[in-house]
Amino acid sequence: MSEPPLILTARMHAHPETSHTIATFEATGGYTALRTALDMGREAIVEEVKAANLRGRGGAGFPAGVKWGFLAPARPAYLVVNGDESEPGTFKDRQLMERDPHQLVEGTIISSLANEVNHAFIYIRGEYPKPARRVQAAVDEAYSAGYLGTNILGSGYDLELTVHLGGGAYICGEETALLNSLEGRRGEPRLKPPFFPAVRGLYMAPTIVNNIETLCNIAWIINNGGNAYSAIGPEDSPGRRMCSISGHVNRPGNYEIVEGITWRELIYEVAGGIRDGNELKAWVPGGASAPWFVPGEHLDTEVTKAAIDSNGSMTGSGAVIVMDHTTDMVAAAERLVRFFAHESCGQCTPCREGTTWLDMILRRMLAGHGRATDPDVLYDVSDNISPGVTWPPKMTTICPLGPSAVSPVASLLKHFPEEVAAAVERGTQVPVSIGMRV
Ligand code: SF4
Repeated sequence: MSEPPLILTARMHAHPETSHTIATFEATGGYTALRTALDMGREAIVEEVKAANLRGRGGAGFPAGVKWGFLAPARPAYLVVNGDESEPGTFKDRQLMERDPHQLVEGTIISSLANEVNHAFIYIRGEYPKPARRVQAAVDEAYSAGYLGTNILGSGYDLELTVHLGGGAYICGEETALLNSLEGRRGEPRLKPPFFPAVRGLYMAPTIVNNIETLCNIAWIINNGGNAYSAIGPEDSPGRRMCSISGHVNRPGNYEIVEGITWRELIYEVAGGIRDGNELKAWVPGGASAPWFVPGEHLDTEVTKAAIDSNGSMTGSGAVIVMDHTTDMVAAAERLVRFFAHESCGQCTPCREGTTWLDMILRRMLAGHGRATDPDVLYDVSDNISPGVTWPPKMTTICPLGPSAVSPVASLLKHFPEEVAAAVERGTQVPVSIGMRV
């Protein structure tokens, strides 16, 4: 079978110097999908996206067309594009915004049309100034060319598109925190229920929140048909998806993959294998929140949403962090937990206190002051944040950030108990009087 065409990165591969410009975009078929979509009308667009079975690429993996169907009928309604890409190891949306911003703008316009939205927002992570500049420039060009504003291409359809640069908080990637941030409030997640964004979101109006990568697929789907998209890759998660591979591989980077290959193929063929001929020790399959995979159990399982879910982890943001045999797994867990502790918004006690305690205990262990009770205490604190320390996680918190910090700890305790025991053993050899006081 021939290799399916590139969808998301085709233009940047073919025109690496100019793929971000409107001239190159139009010369390579850009904005033809918009013209088609304006003729099709909103219901036909929704049907094509449903036929494509395009799953959201922000983490949850919910089908985009079905999600659009939840939008309440009241108007005005808003479309918010989530570009607050901050999960450690995730850098795919940055490339899409920087290298092909018009692909995103066209997808945003078509999606707004499909949802009868007249004002859309692209919310970009505060630490992404270059992608924000590129997207803003693309939006400006689209206004000048008549693809945005009033009476787009003479169709009678109006759309304003606002680019907003966030303040640099990871938690604003959570959709309700993002909406608060857009409204000028503190970027803190909202309690759900009673209100869900599709019913009461931005300015308490119906709001769809979609990820950058998700909307970058839309123009291709309109040009080629939803059935052509759903014919690529596995039935339950078709199409192509971006995969950010980092860590101890020979060729780290973003790859546009078709799901269904094995982890062995992804790590050893796509990413060139482990550096210096080292042994693979573990990898994070879907962003820092995802439970770890280990070679003995998972190397020959498939990279599909269904397989990853059934093996107790998630595709998440598509970030794969690879660790070789030289990795201190206690240190790896601490580094991830420290991130979540730092980014906790502080609303929920189990998250605010628990993530900080997890980090302090791991840091103390690394400093050579582990205690015999540490594994139990790590589990107990984790259990308070996420009862039962199960997967998918249960929550005592408003949003999933708290349980996200539990993931690396649970993975450490499950797969590398000998490293935890060694850290404890080192600690018992240090006199208590000079032990770190935590
Ligand atoms: Fe904030 Fe953490 Fe609660 Fe999420 S879980 S709302 S980040 S305190």
